[in-house]
Amino acid sequence: MSEEHIVRITNIESVTHDVRRYQVEKPQGYTFKPGQATEVAINKEGWKEERRPFTFTSLNTDPYLEFTIKSYNDHPGVTNELGKLKVGDELIIHDVWGVIEYKGPGYFIAGGAGITRRKIPGRDRRGSGRRERSVGKGWGSDGDAIARWRSAREFGAAR
Ligand SMILES: Cc1cc2nc3c(=O)[nH]c(=O)nc-3n(C[C@H](O)[C@H](O)[C@H](O)COP(=O)(O)OP(=O)(O)OC[C@H]3O[C@@H](n4cnc5c(N)ncnc54)[C@H](O)[C@@H]3O)c2cc1C
Repeated sequence: MSEEHIVRITNIESVTHDVRRYQVEKPQGYTFKPGQATEVAINKEGWKEERRPFTFTSLNTDPYLEFTIKSYNDHPGVTNELGKLKVGDELIIHDVWGVIEYKGPGYFIAGGAGITRRKIPGRDRRGSGRRERSVGKGWGSDGDAIARWRSAREFGAAR
């Protein structure tokens, strides 16, 4: 049977005009590898079966789960609805999946929402003393905005 956990949103921060960072409760024993994702639904009538995949942007060692999500406000989908949620609202998360992981030095090219899966394995490696440079110029506007935000916050000091 597949996993299903109802988790409360504990913090929401705006990253750009249409990207928000959501921190939610972490179910006991719930683990993932950097770069992996889960399906997320909103725990409200009419939305519980609408699952969409999102990557964890927290580390497995953090006491919470975090997602960084772009809202598409041009149609009434899940990300548009996520953008209306407040602290205290609930999400439903499912099994962990995904195969992106660090396998040695190389280049990882990502844009748009794909940036989240490229960033977190790098963030995880910082603890092991390895360094990573982020090159954001030339990416699409949303990916670029997230890249600049993450670079300033996490990699600026390492340059
Ligand atoms: C493994 C994986 C990990 C992911 N991780 C992240 C992440 O960490 N963060 C993140 O932000 N995203 C991530 N995504 C992308 C995310 O899953 C999608 O943005 C999300 O599913 C969109 O859901 P929705 O219901 O809002 O849009 P949907 O209704 O599912 O539409 C998806 C796309 O179609 C377009 N579209 C559909 N209907 C219309 C319409 N009527 N008018 C105009 N446009 C329309 C939307 O603009 C959008 O581009 C990930 C995707 C995968 C596969």
